[in-house]
Amino acid sequence: MSRKVIKSTRVPVYRDSGFRLDNASEMADAFGREAANLRDPDNYIYSRYRNPTVVAAEEEIMKLEGSRWSLLAQSGMAAVDTAVSLFHKGSETRPWMFFADIYGGTLSYITSILNSRRGVKTEKFESTDNEYDLDRLGHLLKKIRPEFLYFEVISNPMLIVADGEAVINLCRSMGVKTIVDNTFATPLLWKPLDYGADLVIHSATKYFSGHGNLTAGVICGNDEKLMSEAVSYRKLVGHMISPDDAYRLNTQILSFSLRFRQQCSNAMLLAEMLERSPLTEHVWYPGLRNHKTNPTARRLFEGRGFGAMVTFSFSGSSIEEKRTRRDKFISSVIDRIHLVPTLGDPHTILMPVEPVWGDRYPDPGMIRLSVGFEPFEELSATISEALDTIS
Ligand code: PLP
Repeated sequence: MSRKVIKSTRVPVYRDSGFRLDNASEMADAFGREAANLRDPDNYIYSRYRNPTVVAAEEEIMKLEGSRWSLLAQSGMAAVDTAVSLFHKGSETRPWMFFADIYGGTLSYITSILNSRRGVKTEKFESTDNEYDLDRLGHLLKKIRPEFLYFEVISNPMLIVADGEAVINLCRSMGVKTIVDNTFATPLLWKPLDYGADLVIHSATKYFSGHGNLTAGVICGNDEKLMSEAVSYRKLVGHMISPDDAYRLNTQILSFSLRFRQQCSNAMLLAEMLERSPLTEHVWYPGLRNHKTNPTARRLFEGRGFGAMVTFSFSGSSIEEKRTRRDKFISSVIDRIHLVPTLGDPHTILMPVEPVWGDRYPDPGMIRLSVGFEPFEELSATISEALDTIS
């Protein structure tokens, strides 16, 4: 009996661990073809190597980031690990350099894994008074000559915007590779590969998936040699996303641009609203004129938006008063703006800064908001009500 071909609009979830091969010579052929061409579209052997559902999602990300290749991993940290490990050459490894204002998990990975376990020498580049001094960066690069420089386009939680184009040019002029974590800016604001970055990584857990319901990471690039090294690393270390997560990511990513545009627009309006309140002492948002890196953000993002994270602090005559205002604000919004330690969710969520970053930032009243794509009127009503409660 012949079966009707089911015409699916997208690549379905292939949950197979391994794919059927008909005989020994087909198996030999499959492995041979894999060695010759890592991206042979019809060659699927084992899902830890390559899976059609995963490949479909990777193709969507390639379109967004404008990359020749992209590889999904099971988390943003797996993408970080894959990207940096490509430059590990045992005892020959030159130092690696990282901006100091990067995701805390990446900082812990540097100390616990790179320094302590792998013995890799790393250097940090600190921001100066909430901006990056590129002259100082130039001197450091010259002195250290690292293998690569790793940075985030928008930092966390101060939202410092790096002049990515200038940083990449500086590195290229000295033969230093660049790895850019583009999670906060997303390709909607800026595409590092267009400016010569070597690798771009994302925590796809955040804006790409956008619904707070899966964990994923991705590494993108143009260089074919880096691609084959990354494919081999992912395959042997097992940094592979599950087909189910890849399928959901591939569906959710279709609305990424719509969602992120709305999130950026809400964030801008919210930052302005918070700035007008006498109860806030400071609002950090790259779209505001008072943000140190607003000129850089305007130049780099060319009007496409300023991201969807807003950090602010409460005014108060003492540290205790600032903390009290923060806590009152949180308890007033907690049923509508949840306290969740992630970002990029559909609804606005918050995180108090002090319990996470300790005394790195001296103001104990700081709150970081990940702004959602709910109607702005809903969000502004919740925030106004909470500010009224405090006053
Ligand atoms: N990069 C940035 C900028 C992040 O914010 C995070 C997580 O919050 C990561 C990487 C790590 O991603 P994941 O949690 O998906 O492993």
